[in-house]
Amino acid sequence: MKITKAESFILHVPITPPITDAINVATHWGVTGVRIETDEGIVGYGYTGTTAKGDEMIADTIDRYYAPALIGKNPYNVKQIWDELRFGPMHWIGRSGIAHMALAAVDIALWDIMSKAAGKPLWQYLGGHKPDKIKAYNTNGGWLNWSKDQLIKDITGILDQGFTAVKMKVGKPDPREDFDRVQAVRRAIGDDVGLMIDVNQQWNITTAMTWGKKLEQFDLIWLEEPLNPDDISGHRKLADELNVPIALGEHVYNKYAFRDYITQGAVEYVQVDVTRVAGITEWLQVAGLAAAHDLPVCPHVGDMGQIHQHLVAATQNAIMLEYIPWIKHIFEEPINVVNGFYTLPQQPGASTTIIPRYFEEYRVR
Ligand SMILES: [Mg+2]
Repeated sequence: MKITKAESFILHVPITPPITDAINVATHWGVTGVRIETDEGIVGYGYTGTTAKGDEMIADTIDRYYAPALIGKNPYNVKQIWDELRFGPMHWIGRSGIAHMALAAVDIALWDIMSKAAGKPLWQYLGGHKPDKIKAYNTNGGWLNWSKDQLIKDITGILDQGFTAVKMKVGKPDPREDFDRVQAVRRAIGDDVGLMIDVNQQWNITTAMTWGKKLEQFDLIWLEEPLNPDDISGHRKLADELNVPIALGEHVYNKYAFRDYITQGAVEYVQVDVTRVAGITEWLQVAGLAAAHDLPVCPHVGDMGQIHQHLVAATQNAIMLEYIPWIKHIFEEPINVVNGFYTLPQQPGASTTIIPRYFEEYRVR
């Protein structure tokens, strides 16, 4: 099989109503990626996820540097292609960030092609571990811009849909308000529901230590991204001192950075995101690294779950997957969460094929 055409796309999918966490205001989710055609008629789609900003730089990287190098290549040589692109012209300016997110899109499209050609959903192509369903936790109710009443209404509504674990945002300017909101949610949902909180990097080490200790009483599954994602030693101190596990990974770009977090004991739930590291090829390496340290993997869904559902289903130490429903309607085989569990895709491929109508309707480039 040979690649005959590779072209970038940028879709902006509306989020209604707009949401905020501690650092982002999001009105659209950016689905920025590449559509790859082959001489056997199989078409692969891969993409990364953005807050609908910076997409054009990712698309430029694909069109100018990656697409020309793909033409004539055999998609089955995905790891050779990955090496060639990573150590190609973009290596000088980016081994993370824009270049890596562009490489993620290409790599995902290649795995989509391979599993389509094999006639298998990606999770089977990779080797299945959870063949029936995977546990979901819901993030789409705990937004920071919700009033306390709205927050509790949304989160209890999520439980009514069958979820048994929920995540809420914290990181208000006054941590006392965060404490008050977490306390109110814990009271509303009772002791049996799993609760995670996400700081989105808003605290410094002092705030994190002080308020992390106060929040221990609410029996949290994890404390997510308390600090700047480059501060490995700060996270290690928190992991050592707090009785709340530290979760992070959505802003960690490659296996080397994960190696440092993991070997230094600075992360306890590994939230590696296939759209942030350079695709499925590198995601599997990070998951293996975590497995060798007996750490659970719970991916952040920059892809909103389409690809990660396959990866979690095929990975022994991946225990749970985030659920956010913003973009699922654009895919031919959308994620399907019933009673708090993802049911697994059955169609061949990585569940990344976009319905032509939405490919046109949301396309900005
Ligand atoms: Mg997060």
